[in-house]
Amino acid sequence: MKNNVLIFATNNRHKVKEIRSVICSQFNIITLNEAGIDLDIPEPHNTIEANASEKSKTIFNLTKQNCFGEDTGLEVEALNGEPGVKSARYAGDEKNFNANIDKLLKKLNGINNRAAQFKTVISLMWNEKEYLFKGITRGNIIHERKGSNGFGYDSVFIPEGSNKTFAEMELSEKNKYSHRRKATDKLIEFLNRQ
Ligand code: IMP
Repeated sequence: MKNNVLIFATNNRHKVKEIRSVICSQFNIITLNEAGIDLDIPEPHNTIEANASEKSKTIFNLTKQNCFGEDTGLEVEALNGEPGVKSARYAGDEKNFNANIDKLLKKLNGINNRAAQFKTVISLMWNEKEYLFKGITRGNIIHERKGSNGFGYDSVFIPEGSNKTFAEMELSEKNKYSHRRKATDKLIEFLNRQ
């Protein structure tokens, strides 16, 4: 890989921390702020894939540089895939993690099927072409919050194979299970082949 600077089309510090913890130092990941881009990219589409593309293509059209965007959703089986693309704004436009969890737990009240999955899609714009990488982690939504690490819905999601929520895990442990880690591994594999 010749030019190792990659703009990550986000200012979400949690996502940046997670992706930087997996991507080795040969790649220089810079955020929108660090690239001097002051933009809150909209997520207008009804699929996670299309929203991820929106992010990378918006920044590519602006900068003509290699970049990637990432979109993640929590899909709950008993709620027909909700919150899904609406995960960030489930309880309203202000992107409030706590209010989103409250709404989710209320909707699941009395429902036995707690199965859910996180889905991450990374859209990479590389030499003017788009490549998509996906990561899925299945698990269950518990009845009340546990743990204080992480962000978003981490405190109510237990991945399959563990008895802890993501919010009870250190990042290195979340990385063993996480959707974002799986998608990032595929991104790294692609970059290493360039
Ligand atoms: P977006 O990908 O920026 O649209 O974010 C979607 C929303 O999903 C975030 O605001 C979080 O609430 C949630 N989310 C995304 N990734 C994770 C994660 O790894 N753990 C818990 N919640 C997440």
